[in-house]
Amino acid sequence: MSGGAVRRLRPDAILVDSQTLLSDRALVVRDGRVLGHDGPSAEDEVHPGEFWSAAPVLVHAHLESHDAPAATWSRAGFAAWAAELLAWRERRDRLPPDQAAAASLAELRRAGCGFVLAHRAEAGATSEAHRRARELPELLDLPELFAPEPERAGEALRTCAGAPGRALHSPFGVSLELARAAFAAPGPVSIHLGEHAEERRLLAAGDGPLAELLRARGRPLPAGRWPSPVDWLADAGGLRPGVLAVHGADLRPEELRRLDRAGVRVVWCPGTHRFFRRPAPAFAAAGLPAPALGCDSRASNDALDPLREFRLAGRLLPDFPPAAWWRAATEGGAEAVGRADLGHLRPGAAARWLRFRAPRSPADAAAACVWLAGEEVRPIGGVEAAA
Ligand SMILES: [Zn+2]
Repeated sequence: MSGGAVRRLRPDAILVDSQTLLSDRALVVRDGRVLGHDGPSAEDEVHPGEFWSAAPVLVHAHLESHDAPAATWSRAGFAAWAAELLAWRERRDRLPPDQAAAASLAELRRAGCGFVLAHRAEAGATSEAHRRARELPELLDLPELFAPEPERAGEALRTCAGAPGRALHSPFGVSLELARAAFAAPGPVSIHLGEHAEERRLLAAGDGPLAELLRARGRPLPAGRWPSPVDWLADAGGLRPGVLAVHGADLRPEELRRLDRAGVRVVWCPGTHRFFRRPAPAFAAAGLPAPALGCDSRASNDALDPLREFRLAGRLLPDFPPAAWWRAATEGGAEAVGRADLGHLRPGAAARWLRFRAPRSPADAAAACVWLAGEEVRPIGGVEAAA
């Protein structure tokens, strides 16, 4: 431990985690870490009229497509939307991937995101300046593989040599050969799975709108039949801890429980769910905790904003109370990516927080989570961290 200066930061109240609210206590930090919480002292940097929380963690995003004109695209189904996205991506008048990534990261920082896991589908879709400057949000971007042709599996895997993990597009976007190799290698693997009924139909019957889209683009269909997307995942060797199943909103309770038993974490993107006007997911019916949250991209969402995803989650699925969704948006996401130091402000945590103006402090943690779910509550100046 180096000997950086100790700072004592004292707002009116601190939501340490979804269960713990402290009033009139200083957050004691040093070298970017939380040391503890202390009673008032003359050395405190006081922030009267403020309420602080840990910075949220988003476990799924794409930094590309920040300027996608998605409001004009079809939402009638996934294949119809994907055809619009693919046509737009061939245009030359859109933002280059690096600029789109920088714009996405700036939006996430302003909105209060502390950490984001992104699928990187286009070369250059990472803001190198952001990475070099170690700016927030902290970024874990995984190369996304789209290679449904079995003969391209080796070439696709070589593109992510040395990466901290892999992202697979979907069960229809990669061959079983590629998926098996990707899941067999150590490290996290993120994949869009169980997103919509079109995916289920393609895997179970080999037809439907997705089959037509793949054929129209000269790409092969999955070489097999699986009654459930979770059966496909099992066949591919992906029923293991470290795997992130993104969306999961078309999965049935037993399928969700099967993922949970295997240690696979589900990541739900409420903004995208609402964009496509999909039916309510079965997370609560499965008897499982609220899933981690993501924001996907502006190709299927109106904003990149963790608080908005937290609020939409509560509105779309009120079976879970605000405290459960706050946990999902913070510690739940951190656990999904194996980062015990994120999503809370207990001793040992990364000192990353959001500041809010709050004329009256909430009475307890549950009331604080209800307050955070209010539409007008915005962080002051985005996510902050102690140096
Ligand atoms: Zn996505």
